[in-house]
Amino acid sequence: MSGSTSKSAELLAHARTVTPGGVNSPVRAFRAVGGTPRFIREAKGPWLTDVDGNRYVDLICSWGPMILGHAHPDVMAAVQDAASRGFSFGTPSENEVALATEIVRRVEPVEQVRLVSSGTEATMSAIRLARGATGRSKIVKFAGCYHGHVDALLAAAGSGVATFALPDTAGVPKSSAGETIVLPYNDVSALEAAFAEHGDEIAAVITEASPGNMGVVPPAPGFTKALRDITTKHGALLVSDEVMTGFRCSGAGWFGHEGQQGESAPDLFTFGKVMGGGFPAAAFGGRADLMGMLAPDGPVYQAGTLAGNPVATAAGLATLQGCTDEVYAHLDSTAHAIADAASAELTKAGVPHTVQWASSMFSIFFRDGAVTNYDDAKDQDTEAFSRFFNAMLDQGVHLPPSAYESWFVSASHDDEAVAHVIDALPAAARAAAAS
Ligand code: PMP
Repeated sequence: MSGSTSKSAELLAHARTVTPGGVNSPVRAFRAVGGTPRFIREAKGPWLTDVDGNRYVDLICSWGPMILGHAHPDVMAAVQDAASRGFSFGTPSENEVALATEIVRRVEPVEQVRLVSSGTEATMSAIRLARGATGRSKIVKFAGCYHGHVDALLAAAGSGVATFALPDTAGVPKSSAGETIVLPYNDVSALEAAFAEHGDEIAAVITEASPGNMGVVPPAPGFTKALRDITTKHGALLVSDEVMTGFRCSGAGWFGHEGQQGESAPDLFTFGKVMGGGFPAAAFGGRADLMGMLAPDGPVYQAGTLAGNPVATAAGLATLQGCTDEVYAHLDSTAHAIADAASAELTKAGVPHTVQWASSMFSIFFRDGAVTNYDDAKDQDTEAFSRFFNAMLDQGVHLPPSAYESWFVSASHDDEAVAHVIDALPAAARAAAAS
């Protein structure tokens, strides 16, 4: 059982006086699950230690980046070496070329990349490039897919065919979201209908390569191909957002899993998370003819003071180099050991649930039946998830604090960490069952 959380509570109370909600990204506030968010003092391998000295097996992994585990020795050495030579130059440097080369080597259709500092910047820039390249303004996105807090992409409201989205958030003018068409995920006929009506105005379809932000909802067989066929037919670009799946689902991300080569590949990709190894680094890339439209060679402007930062790119490169075939095999077996045990305990406790997968990314929906889109994902017992979450946390296992997230494992999740998770499951499943 975890002990006192008084120092976290004190820090939160103070943080709320200087930062909205006391956190720098809303989900960290635990509003969906209740209780005190743990302020983490340090992390090593699969373990987090909070400011009160409690230890947790980490199943968030910083929402994906920590694929090798926390403070991995090789990444630490690369970071220390880079940092010892200065933190940021504002001029070109070697590490950024090495990281770009590694990404281009891994993801076959990506001929060039531009490095940025967050996934949000990557998708924002990819959309700008798509609009610049096609001279069109409308964007198609799918309900339940998250692409960062880009104005035009924060519209997920409304399902049904070709709903012109209202913004999901205050502060986004209708004019920004009004160029965004939101469609239900995995629904080819909705896509065909939207293109039949607006085909010559649509610059791009952006999709999570395999969505993880409504929980894990992989593309139905043929859906990714349909995206490619329809966009090609109408002269629109296909942007595959691999910020979450990139270099996690395989060495070449989700593309390495179900990707289509040559002309059938997406036009643009976005990356983040793993490629920064826990530091702020992200990228967008694609065919050289498209990327050549960016400044300084072309008319589409895009820039960043810290883009290609030498320390962040050193961390990213060392992380990618550590992602061997053995690491991916370990992620798969670890994720399956945890998910299978969780499912067995939930079944024993009579809790309706469904486990869904994208390679080693998985989530447990607290409902019966497959989840194919955002409406399905929302149709679950989030109260049961909250009880489950809190019972796990109490026993030293830190799950993502929302029912709509993937669980993440790392190369450092060893037998001891997995056993610790498995030991916590029976009580958590009973808590989930007790309404
Ligand atoms: N795209 C996807 C698929 C993501 O999962 C995220 C972050 N969860 C983003 C974009 C935005 O990335 P960032 O938080 O680094 O801005």
